[in-house]
Parts: sequence; structure tokens; C-alpha cells
Amino acid sequence: MAAAAAAKIAEVRETTRVERIGAHSHIRGLGLNDSLEARHVSQGMVGQMSARRATGLVLQMVRDGRIAGRAVLLAGQPGTGKTAIATALAASLGYDTPFTSMAGSEIYSLEMSKTEALTQAIRKSIGVRIKEESEIIEGEVVEVQVERPATGVGSKVGKLILKTTDMETVYDLGGKMIDSILKEKVQSGDVITIDKATGKISRLGRSFARARDYDATGHQTRFVQCPEGELQKRKEVVHTVTLHEIDVINSRTHGFLALFSGDTGEIKPEVREQINGKVAEWREEGKAEIIPGVLFIDEVHMLDIECFSFLNRALENEMAPIVIMATNRGITRIRGTNYKSPHGIPLDLLDRMIIVPTKPYEEKELREILSIRCEEEDCQMTDNALTVLTRIAKETSLRYGMQLIMTSYLIAKRRKAPEVDVDDIKRAYTLFFDDGRSVQFLREYQQEFLFNADDDAQMEVE
Ligand code: ATP
Repeated sequence: MAAAAAAKIAEVRETTRVERIGAHSHIRGLGLNDSLEARHVSQGMVGQMSARRATGLVLQMVRDGRIAGRAVLLAGQPGTGKTAIATALAASLGYDTPFTSMAGSEIYSLEMSKTEALTQAIRKSIGVRIKEESEIIEGEVVEVQVERPATGVGSKVGKLILKTTDMETVYDLGGKMIDSILKEKVQSGDVITIDKATGKISRLGRSFARARDYDATGHQTRFVQCPEGELQKRKEVVHTVTLHEIDVINSRTHGFLALFSGDTGEIKPEVREQINGKVAEWREEGKAEIIPGVLFIDEVHMLDIECFSFLNRALENEMAPIVIMATNRGITRIRGTNYKSPHGIPLDLLDRMIIVPTKPYEEKELREILSIRCEEEDCQMTDNALTVLTRIAKETSLRYGMQLIMTSYLIAKRRKAPEVDVDDIKRAYTLFFDDGRSVQFLREYQQEFLFNADDDAQMEVE
């Protein structure tokens, strides 16, 4: 039994660890100071100062929430930190500002039309902050009785006498409240709270803990003294949901469970129209406000002309989120056409974007990033080994350099060394090819591979 439990714990730990060392797990924010200037190394980010500062301004725009439908393009060579910067932006957003991330190619792999996939992505990036008020009564239990029906048929009935500041109130209890009382094991002398709206009863200790949680996530609590002398706690509960979540919950064909499976299918335009109308009503009544979030589309050159034209129009909607796109392509063909354009994006869309370039890193910055990654992956490395690794990253790519951290660490571990040294890096370098050596290898041995393409065929894939 204990062994099984231990195995369970190990399993759980393993999962957290896998998450912790994701490609961008070292990034905790954009690393800007109060005047939005980038610090050279901060919050896991290194260099790329002007792109980070520009993204800081975008962040300000999102926080202000006044300007909808801006489009930003992060453009630069592979491995220059475009995705890292978008991840940093996501980490700096408020807890209830939605951030959706997708790769351009995802729109082709879902069981829905391309424009539906984009619409869902856009609506996932628009938050609706809904305010609700509920009343909570607090008091000491004088007496509580629950009676089960003698015949065993019918529902339980009960009575609760609650003493608040200066009076006793008798409550006749029905189904939900009784369940709550039994679950909480409420007895005379306990201090409890009753949520009038839901009938939920909680013991005070726990209710306080819960109220604190609420505060951390934006729920506000305040105490008011009522005329009858009853001490009531009036709570303003704030929920933030996305427009997409409201769509799914109200889409009769799917139901809210689809939110968990992600299998939402296409949502009817009528449902969306209704939701838009309802949200507009709530906004007018002051019950809800819109929070435009961020939609990040990586490898945006994978979208085609239909998607671009759709996006162009969607950006004009007053509720549109800020759309950040990233690409590592130069002048290339726009998918679905025979025209070429910068980054494979049509000129009319490009014209309405602000473009943030990312530049290749200096050796010093590469070293810094690799060293942060070593720390992230719990890998001790000698200074010399880090110098060799930086040189390799400079000559191949930053990503390849990062791959060598874990592989050389495992090699060092096999020889029971506490630190990765130059030889471990060299060994990993000979065992695992970077793309340059892989291409060279193919050139030398291409006759021995199956499906060898014509000599003059183009290698670059779309
Ligand atoms: P591609 O065009 O190939 O998609 P990219 O520009 O999106 O590349 P990233 O994936 O952001 O590149 O960067 C590659 C790796 O280097 C990631 O693990 C990323 O977290 C890290 N990285 C890149 N730039 C920085 C930086 N300035 N500071 C810290 N880490 C960085």
C-alpha cells in the first residue's frame, strides 16, 4: 500500500518536472523596468532589448484595453526568441486577461473549417468579466436537527437555529442545505456561514480560507452591518470567462463538457449572435466588461490567403483581441496563391501591422541563455564546457546548443561526474548531429537512402 502510494507520488513529481523543463520554462516575464526599458538579463530573458521594449509597449496597450484589434508581427531568423517573447508577454498579462497560442498549421488539423478555427481562437482571446453579488450570513449554531423520513421514502427535513450578533433565527431546511450540513458535519456551537444565493453552508474556518482564495483571484469581500443587526457578509464575486466558453456552454449540440474535451466542433453563427447580444446587454447594465486579450499565431506564414483576408476583417471588430504573429520567413509565396510577399503575408494585412524585428544573438548573449538553461535543467557545467557549448551554438544554432545540455549531462552522469566537462560536450556533439552535418551526411550517402529525390530537387519544404 505504502509502496503504491510512493510510486504515485513519484509519478506526480515526474510530471511536474517534465512541465518545468519545457522549452520556454525559464521565462517568467519580459524583464522590463517600470519605464518599460528592457533589463539586459531579467526574468529569464536575455538581450533582444528593442524587441522586448516594443513588446512592453504592446503589453501596455493590452493592459489599457482601449485599443482593440491591433496586429503585431514578430519577424526574425529561427531561434531569435520570437516565441520566447510571446511567452514572456503571456506571463506578464493580468491573471484574467486571456492569452491563446496556436501554430498557423493548427487550422488545417481540426475537424472544422479554417475560418471557424480562427473564430474560436479569436473568441478564446476575449474575456468577459462578469460581476455578481451574493449575500452570506454568518452566525453561531444554537441547534441543528436533521430528520430522515421514517418510511425511508421522501426527502430529509431539518431545522437550524442560528444566532447572529443579537438575534436568533430559525431556518427550515430543505434538500441542498441539509446535504451541506451533513457534509460539513455542522454541530451546535460551530460558527458557520450560509450563502443565501446557493444555500451552501460552510464552517467559518474553511469559509475564511475560501474567501482569501477569492481575493487572490479577484473576488472582493466586504462586511456590512444590516439594519436588523444581522451581521452579513456581502460578497461581490467576479468571474472571468471567455466568449468562446460562453459560446460552448450555450451551444445545445455540444454542452459545457465539450470545454474539457476541447471537442467543440463548429458553433452555429446564431448562437454567437445571441451571445454577442446578451454580452452587449450585460455591458450596458454594468454587469459585465470586455477584456480584450492576446491571440498569438506562431508560424503565421502557414495560414493561407482566405485566413489572412478573414483576419483582416476580424481585426476591425471593436471586441477584437490584439493579435501577435511570428514568422521566420523572408520573401515567400502566400499560401493559396502564386504571389510572393514579405513573410508570405498579403501586403494589405502587412500594412496594418506593427513589425517587431528580432536579431541574431551575440556570443555573450548565447552564453547567458545557455547558462540560464543549464540552471533550469539542473545541470552543473564547467566554465570551459560552457565556452565550448556557446561556440557550438554560435556555429550551429541556439536550439541545437540547448539540446546538448541534457545529452551531455547524461553522458557526464554515466561517468559519475558531478559536472559536465568539455569532453562530455564533445561526445554529445559527435553522437547527435545538427542540421548542417545532417545535410552533409545525406549528401555523402544519399545513394544509400530510400526515396532519394532528384539531385536538383529543392530541399526546402513549404
Ligand atoms: P522559430 O522561428 O524557429 O520558431 P523563435 O524565434 O520562435 O524560432 P524561440 O523558440 O523563441 O525562437 O527560441 C529558441 C529557444 O531559445 C527557446 O527555448 C527560447 O526560450 C530560448 N530563447 C530565445 N531567445 C531568448 C532570450 N532572449 N532569452 C532567453 N531565452 C531565449
